[in-house]
Amino acid sequence: MILILLGKIFPRSNNWQLKILNYVNTTLKKIYVFDLDDTLVLTEARVKIYHTEDFSLVHSFTPIEFNSYEKKANHLLDFDDFDCFETLSKGKLITQNLKILRRAHELGYDIAIVTARSNKPAVVQFLLEKKIPVDSSLVYAVSDPSFNYDGSVAERKSQAFIDLYKKGYRDFVYYDDNLENLEKVKETLQKKHAKISTFQV
Ligand SMILES: [Mg+2]
Repeated sequence: MILILLGKIFPRSNNWQLKILNYVNTTLKKIYVFDLDDTLVLTEARVKIYHTEDFSLVHSFTPIEFNSYEKKANHLLDFDDFDCFETLSKGKLITQNLKILRRAHELGYDIAIVTARSNKPAVVQFLLEKKIPVDSSLVYAVSDPSFNYDGSVAERKSQAFIDLYKKGYRDFVYYDDNLENLEKVKETLQKKHAKISTFQV
C-alpha cells in the first residue's frame, strides 16, 4: 500500500507514519507574522520631515499618513521617534489584532514580528514588557543595520520573509496595515511557491 500526500508518494515501511509526520511538519511549517506600528500598537511616534536648507519642520506624519507621502529633493526624513523604547512602551495596544496573535500562539504556531523599525532591542524589550509571546529570534526590525537589508520598506520586509522561508516556514499568515508591504511580500513568497494569506488591518 502507498499513500500519496501533497504530491509525494510514501511507500508503506516500518517508520511510515513518522516519515509522513516529518514531511508534513517541514513542508507546511506555518507561521503568523505581524507588523508592529498600527497593527499591534498605536504610538505618538512621528516621521518628521525637515527642509534641507534651514532645517525647519515641514511635516510631522503618523505612520499611516507617511504611507502616502512622496519624498521631495529638499526634504530630510527623521525616524528617530521610532527608535525610542519609551514612546513605544506608552503606545496603545490594538487588542483585536493582539487577540489573533495570542490565539495563534496558544494553538502552537510560531509568531514573528516584521517591522520597519530600526532598533530591534527596543522592540524585543517592548514585547517582553507587554508579555507578547514572540521569540526574539523571530523579531525582524528591517531598518536595523544588523540585518543588512536594503531597498524600500516593502523590499526589506520581503527580505525578512525570505529569511523566514530559509528557516523552513512554508505557510505564512501575514497582518500589516500597509497594502504595499502585503502585496510585495505576497509576490515574493509566491515566487518561492510558499503559501501565504495576507490581511490588511
Ligand atoms: Mg504598520
